[in-house]
Amino acid sequence: MTQNTNSHTIAVVGGGIMGVALAHKLSQNGFAVTVYERGSNLGGLAGYIDYDGIRMDRFYHTILSSDMSMQNLMEAGGVTGKRHFVATKQGFYDKGKLYPFNTPLDFLLFPPLNIFQRFRLGLQVIYAQFESDWHKMDVVPVADWLIKVSGRGVYNKVWKPLLRAKFDTTATDVPATYIWSRLRRMMGTREGVQSTEMMCYLENGYYTLIEALAQQCSERGVTFHLNTAVQEVVIEDGRAVGIQTAEGLTRYDAVISTLPSPVLSPLIPSAPDTFRTLLSNQQYLGVLCPMLLLKKSLMPFYVLNITDETIPFTAIVETTNLIDPQYTNGHHIVYLPKYLAPDNEMAQWPDDRVREEWMKHFRRMFPDFDESLITEFWVHRAKYVEPIRPMNTLDEIPPMQTPVERLYMGNTVMIYPELGNGEAVTRYAAKIADRVIADAPTWSRQAAAVPG
Ligand SMILES: Cc1cc2nc3c(=O)[nH]c(=O)nc-3n(C[C@H](O)[C@H](O)[C@H](O)COP(=O)(O)OP(=O)(O)OC[C@H]3O[C@@H](n4cnc5c(N)ncnc54)[C@H](O)[C@@H]3O)c2cc1C
Repeated sequence: MTQNTNSHTIAVVGGGIMGVALAHKLSQNGFAVTVYERGSNLGGLAGYIDYDGIRMDRFYHTILSSDMSMQNLMEAGGVTGKRHFVATKQGFYDKGKLYPFNTPLDFLLFPPLNIFQRFRLGLQVIYAQFESDWHKMDVVPVADWLIKVSGRGVYNKVWKPLLRAKFDTTATDVPATYIWSRLRRMMGTREGVQSTEMMCYLENGYYTLIEALAQQCSERGVTFHLNTAVQEVVIEDGRAVGIQTAEGLTRYDAVISTLPSPVLSPLIPSAPDTFRTLLSNQQYLGVLCPMLLLKKSLMPFYVLNITDETIPFTAIVETTNLIDPQYTNGHHIVYLPKYLAPDNEMAQWPDDRVREEWMKHFRRMFPDFDESLITEFWVHRAKYVEPIRPMNTLDEIPPMQTPVERLYMGNTVMIYPELGNGEAVTRYAAKIADRVIADAPTWSRQAAAVPG
C-alpha cells in the first residue's frame, strides 16, 4: 500500500535506528523515502544475532522508562505488548567482592568508601541534578569537576575506574558534561530517596521496534535497499542530487546521512574540503564486546561496574537479569565490553586472543564458576560507538544542514551534551525530519524558478 501524498523524494543513508526513525516520520508526512543500508539487516549498532530460533541484541541495549522518544516510538510501532518494565540491579566489583549499587541508600552504605566519602559521592549525584547549565560543564575537565565535589578518595576508588571503563585513555580529555549527563539520565527515572531505577526491554530486543517501524514504513511505500552500500552522495552545483551505488545513480530531492561523520566524509568528494576535514576529524571510541551465552546465571546484577584496573573488560552486563530468560529460550546472556580509544591496539586482537585474555580475568573474578556452563563465546566489535567531544569544541560540531544544499546529516557526535543512545538518536531523527518538512516547500519554489 503506497500513501505518499507529496512528490518529494528523500534518500536516507544508513538503516540503523536513526535511519528507520527518519523514514517513519518522513513517510508519515507524505515523503517518498528510500533507505540505503550496507548491511544485510536493518539495525546497525542496535542489530541482532539469530540463535536457537530467537533474536538477541548483538550489543546490550536498555531503554529507561524516562526515554520518552523511545516510549513514543514503541507506542507508534504497536509493540507495547512486548515491552516490560523492570527495576534494575546494579553492582560494583571491588577487591574480589560484589556490592549492590542501586539506591541512594546503597551509595551511603557502599563499603569500599568511608562514611565521609559516601556522603560526598551522594553529594555529586545531587549536585548534578541541580546544575542545569551544561555550557559551564563543557569547559571543565571531568576529573577536576569530580575531584572538586566528590574528593580525591572517591575519585580514585569510584570515578577514575568508571571513566577508564567508558573512555579508555581519552578519559582525561573529556569535559564534565559526560558524567553530568549520565548522572542526570540515570536519576531521571527515580522518584524519592528509596526509589529504584526502572528500565525496560522488548522481547527479542531492540530489533522488535526497528522491525515494527520498518513494516509500517513499507506499508507507506518506503523502499529499503539492504546490502547496498552508498558509494557517493552525488553533488551538483553545491546541491545533493542523488545517490551512487553499485547499481548506478538514483536522483532525489534531498539526501539525509545517518552515518558516523568520518564514514560520510569520503562519500562526499564534491563537498567543501573544510567540511570534509571537519567530518574526518570527529573522534569516536570503538568497542570490543564479547557476548557469552550461559546455561546458568552468573551474578545477581544487570550491570557490574569494575573498579579493578587490571581487568581488561570494564563492566559485566547480564541482560537476562533484566530480560526474563523465557524470552531467550533459557539462555543467560552476558556481555563483557571494553571501550577502545582510537589508537588502542586491542582493536586488532584476533578473537581467540580476546577470549583467552578475557577468560583469564573472568576466572579470577568468578573462581567457582563452572566453565562448562558457557555454551557460546562470540566477540563483537564496532569502530564508531561513543563520540569523544574534547572540551570547549562546540564550534566543531557538524551542522544538521550541511554546507551542501539539501544534504542533511545526523549522528551521535552531533548530539551533545546528551549521550549517544537510542533515545537521543531518535529524538535527533525527529528534529531532522521537522527541518526537512519545513524546508521542502522552498525546494518546490526553487524548482519552479528554474527556467525550463
Ligand atoms: C556496546 C554498546 C552498548 C550500547 N548500549 C546502549 C543502551 O544501553 N541503550 C541505548 O539506547 N543505546 C545503546 N547503545 C547505542 C545505540 O546502539 C546507538 O546510539 C544507536 O544504535 C545508533 O543508531 P544510528 O542509527 O545513529 O547509527 P548506526 O547504528 O551506526 O547506523 C548507521 C548505519 O549506517 C550503515 N552504513 C554505514 N556505511 C554505509 C554506506 N556506505 N551505505 C549504506 N549504509 C551504511 C551501517 O551499516 C549502519 O547500519 C549502545 C551501543 C553499543 C555499541
